[in-house]
Amino acid sequence: MERYRTHYSTDLGPDDDGKKVSVAGWVEDVRNLGSIAFVIIRDRKGTLQVTVFKKKQAELFEVLTDVTRESVVSVKGLCKANEKVRNGYEIIPSEVDVLSTAEAPLPLGVVDKVESELDTRLDNRFLDLRKPEKRAIFVVRDVLLNAVREYLRSEGFVEVHTPKIIASSSEGGTDLFRVKYFERDAFLAQSPQLYKQTLMATGLDRVFEIAWYFRAEEHNTRRHLNESTAVDLEMAFIKNEEEVMSVLENLVLNIWRRVSELKSELSLLNASVEVPSLPFRRITYDKVVERLQERKVEIEWGEDLGSEEEKVLGDIMREEGSDFYFITKYPLESKPFYTMPEGERFSRSFDLGCKGVEIASGSQRIHDPKLLMKRIEECRLNPKDFESYLKAFRYGMPPHGGFGMGIERLLMEMLGIKNIRECTLFPRDRTRLTP
Ligand code: ATP
Ligand code: MG
Repeated sequence: MERYRTHYSTDLGPDDDGKKVSVAGWVEDVRNLGSIAFVIIRDRKGTLQVTVFKKKQAELFEVLTDVTRESVVSVKGLCKANEKVRNGYEIIPSEVDVLSTAEAPLPLGVVDKVESELDTRLDNRFLDLRKPEKRAIFVVRDVLLNAVREYLRSEGFVEVHTPKIIASSSEGGTDLFRVKYFERDAFLAQSPQLYKQTLMATGLDRVFEIAWYFRAEEHNTRRHLNESTAVDLEMAFIKNEEEVMSVLENLVLNIWRRVSELKSELSLLNASVEVPSLPFRRITYDKVVERLQERKVEIEWGEDLGSEEEKVLGDIMREEGSDFYFITKYPLESKPFYTMPEGERFSRSFDLGCKGVEIASGSQRIHDPKLLMKRIEECRLNPKDFESYLKAFRYGMPPHGGFGMGIERLLMEMLGIKNIRECTLFPRDRTRLTP
């Protein structure tokens, strides 16, 4: 069978020299010099040059020089080694198929030197993603997800999926999106928290989930989305939160290892992904407050860290050689109701920071139903909203713990990307609902 494409642009090699090949992609540029024209075709892997002569191929010459930029073509022709062209090979065409003609002018240039505004780019995301350096983020993302599955499965974790339409808030606090559910109101899940904990009562005692979450937070920041993805994990029969932190740091290590192998994507992104060494530094919340106060950052004991505080802490850690660090033992009052207390004021919780940004939060959870009930009341939540969750604790619930790690957040910190919107294909934020 004849195919539109037998080779990608960068796959041509000495074996193809002098042979018939077919390439297909978008017309990036047409340079018509009168008697000869050079047409640059871009595909997923790169670009290559098609060279056409007016005298010898009048008809093809016309088709190729008339075609608008970003139209889709398939070109069949002779592959010729030529040191002077990109990739070392050019195509002398014998057949050209224009598969789709692009309208002109383009709403967004694909090869323009100056980068357009983010909003213009996102409004025309299909064109924006034709830029190799934008697309590379999603190749990294794919490898990251593979690395997550590879490591967690090797540790006996089972991948699960829990409901995203839920009856009530998972945690209190964050704003939920309300949806009509027949005669009732329901909400979009902000986290799989209550379900992954419920699973700890089933015998599936190590689970993870990779899924979408929805948060109706009104702020528009460079590191929050209203729809985002996360890796969540829960594990049972733990003695303390340290066991969870150990899984998390090994998971991060495996992600960094796998992504660091992506030489060409990382070079397109101008990113250096250095594999960290374990264990990550641990620093208690109390110590963090002390260190921040030394730097004249105003912070009151008991508060969660704001973005400014996180940033200063990131600087301090970096000066001391740690890109990654766990902040441990948060005040109980700053963490959700299901967090295991440690004494009166503290909790068995942790955040994982990376260069001044929180990438994951976790803890040992409460497994005693009486204590859980007490904490729900202390947090001024309504126990009725948690009835089906609480039930799972009354008939044998092992000690357990886990964490949630935002995928876009992780990508952004790993690749040194300034805005989280770059790390999701079609971002949802306070003002954006399309495309
Ligand atoms: P932050 O303090 O940064 O707003 P959080 O503490 O409210 O985050 P958690 O409930 O701990 O978030 O969620 C677990 C992880 O999910 C976070 O560590 C972060 O990586 C990611 N995350 C949370 N909210 C968002 C969001 N709105 N957009 C993208 N990622 C998010
Ligand atoms: Mg958090």
